[in-house]
Amino acid sequence: MIEIDGSEGEGGGQIVRNACALSLVTGEPVRITNVRAKRSKPGLMRQHVTAIEAACAIGSATCEGLVVGSSDLTFRPGRVAAGDYRFSVGTAGSTGLVLQTVLMPLLLADGSSRLVLEGGTHNMLSPPFEFIERSFLPIVRRMGGQVEARLVRHGFYPRGGGRIEVDITPGALQPIECLTRGEALGVSACALFAGLPMSIAEREIAVVRKAFDWSERECFMRELPVDQGPGNILLLEAKFEHVTEIVSGFAQLGVTAERVAKTAVGRMRGYLACEAFAGPYLADQLLLPMALAGGGVFTTVKPSEHARTAATVIERFAGRRTRFEQQAGGAHAVTI
Ligand code: ATP
Repeated sequence: MIEIDGSEGEGGGQIVRNACALSLVTGEPVRITNVRAKRSKPGLMRQHVTAIEAACAIGSATCEGLVVGSSDLTFRPGRVAAGDYRFSVGTAGSTGLVLQTVLMPLLLADGSSRLVLEGGTHNMLSPPFEFIERSFLPIVRRMGGQVEARLVRHGFYPRGGGRIEVDITPGALQPIECLTRGEALGVSACALFAGLPMSIAEREIAVVRKAFDWSERECFMRELPVDQGPGNILLLEAKFEHVTEIVSGFAQLGVTAERVAKTAVGRMRGYLACEAFAGPYLADQLLLPMALAGGGVFTTVKPSEHARTAATVIERFAGRRTRFEQQAGGAHAVTI
């Protein structure tokens, strides 16, 4: 059995999701101790429990210690079965993080699957739906996996109630090279809001237009039905020939619209100032698919602790070492 100390490196929930996904794919049982030890509330939270329950359901797996607050888990995988699955994350937990756990095992299964995921679709500290759809999945498709995701209903913290549907058709995954962005194809800023005053979105867009030379047509607001709120997120998108980066500013109680927008602007500036292919979030999320595709290489901005930790967990299961090498100009090459 593989033993993982969940307090190592980044010490958060991603270790658990990656370990369960890898366990399902390799058939190796895993014990994880000190789960999320580096978080202010250590142990499993509701959304991690749902992600592991989802892993158990698709892979006939069992998991000891699977309760909220648990810091010691033993996950024993069975056989991954393609099929139609529906998972609900109570408390508006992130649907995207449940998808992170089950996507790769289902892409390597013996048939097509359809997933319905209910909960939050635009949560802080998680990939918003647009990031999954336009940044992450196109690269997985380039490796050979057929995955289509649809947003049926938005879900914001704390109400949740969002729904995404994902169709997954396995295909032989191939190593790919993602070194350059290619030609710049366009930018956009979208302030989504529901059940909140439009002035919040207007103030966010004003900050973006002041910071960047983006036209009125490229910067817009989108009001969602009131019953999908309250919620607000600012999404900034830079589309290139080979990659799309989407950075977000998540609205929070007590944080001004200007501050939310400045956070997103700072992230986009950081990405545009560098020539690397992947932003920091895409980088940590690409490691698992690339490792399971048999390798790959991409360039990124400075690798995050999340990326380095994901690489360590992958190495424990797959014996595949990830190399991070700084290049001239500040980008890093990541070779799996
Ligand atoms: P915790 O940090 O509380 O343990 P967690 O389970 O939410 O919990 P992390 O380990 O922090 O998980 O992982 C969060 C994941 O969400 C990472 O894969 C990260 O790349 C992704 N992510 C976070 N914020 C964004 C964002 N704004 N855009 C895209 N992806 C994001």
